[in-house]
Amino acid sequence: MLDAKGLILAPGFIDPHTHLERDLSDPEYRSNLACLMQGVTTVFTGNDGNSPLPIGRKLEEWERNGIGTNAGLFVGHGAVRRVVLGLEAKQPTVEDLEEMKALVAKSMEEGAYGLSTGLFYAPGSYAKEEEVVALAKVAASYGGLYDSHIRDESSYTIGLLASIEEAINIGRKTGIPVHVSHIKALGTDVWRKSKEVIALIESAQNEGINITANQYPYLASKTSFRATVIPRWAEDGGNDAMLERFENVEVRKRLIQEITENIRIRGGAEALVFSETENPDYDGMSLRKFAEIRRLSQAEAAMAILSEEPNLGVISFNMVEEDLKNFMLKDWVVTGSDGGSGHPRKYGSFARKIGHYTKKEKWMDLSFAIHQSTARTARILGLDRRGLIKEGYFADLVLIDIERYTDKATFDAPYELAEGVEYVFVNGQLALEDGEFTGKLSGKALRLN
Ligand SMILES: [Zn+2]
Repeated sequence: MLDAKGLILAPGFIDPHTHLERDLSDPEYRSNLACLMQGVTTVFTGNDGNSPLPIGRKLEEWERNGIGTNAGLFVGHGAVRRVVLGLEAKQPTVEDLEEMKALVAKSMEEGAYGLSTGLFYAPGSYAKEEEVVALAKVAASYGGLYDSHIRDESSYTIGLLASIEEAINIGRKTGIPVHVSHIKALGTDVWRKSKEVIALIESAQNEGINITANQYPYLASKTSFRATVIPRWAEDGGNDAMLERFENVEVRKRLIQEITENIRIRGGAEALVFSETENPDYDGMSLRKFAEIRRLSQAEAAMAILSEEPNLGVISFNMVEEDLKNFMLKDWVVTGSDGGSGHPRKYGSFARKIGHYTKKEKWMDLSFAIHQSTARTARILGLDRRGLIKEGYFADLVLIDIERYTDKATFDAPYELAEGVEYVFVNGQLALEDGEFTGKLSGKALRLN
């Protein structure tokens, strides 16, 4: 018998957007404890255009080795493009496009839940809308979802609103359900534009287009420092090609101008904090500080650190609360962590939304926050018999001490486990008991088809 007195019972939470592929494949982390401790029982990965290939092999591997939560995959447009076209800024020939379509079809047959894109990132950014439409059509024919990190969440290139329009267009042209990942208004130029974004999306919904979004409840993002400051043309061909451009006097002048502008868009060099550095001295240091130490301009300092650490991460404080709130209160916006390393969202998103924004800030009631973390998400993803407490459904269940339920991870200490979840069942097996991991790996590798 299990004593659930004083605890609330909810369906296990579902996370539609993570970067946990490596964790799930690692003997040390495959229990997915960062998620279980928040009450998350199902995660998706392969987002932002970046997925393992072949999809089927990864799912089989997880099945063979065991995973602590359920996990599903998207097929990544960037991954597919990379196989066929490499990292170059070029357009596919007719044959190339057929090859890419075949890869998407194969992935959907192997169980992908849809096509993900990262149109902000290289190489996804080199694709024109028609290419994405052609591939989304294939995913649509298998009943998949179109999950997108849109081309520009800010004012880098086509801008936030045009990027939302592009996502809508892809839905309009293909009939595929569209899901905007980690919806936000990023950077000083687009702050307080959430209402315009919402109006655009809701008018598309009125037109009959199925479009939804996910969101993580933080005011800072985490991404690659390179993607944050370097223009895409300078990444054409990959890292070595980029470093060569840094050394070319003429190109360097143009780069300094554009990097300076990109730093401004992000809210200045103080708002860009290095994360996951190889050199521990730089971890937690802002670009402003680094430039001071090196006695370089901020743009030159950005190139200097990228020459040393091309895969450097960055925490970027670039959102305002008003936009966060406007998006969070929409019934078509669900919780998604975008969880990877270095940012507290991996260990805290669900506990923060439900703990902090429901109890402390009182932005919404508990039942709404839970619905947007369970049933609504399951419906968007086409998840079979999950997201509700119902006869005939899989027993993914959580028992939470709601008074104690809170996120502990912060930007200074991003790897602190959440508190307040007492029991977690994954597929009927007890994964967490009295707040402790039982050692059971009862998650399933999920397949749409
Ligand atoms: Zn993303």
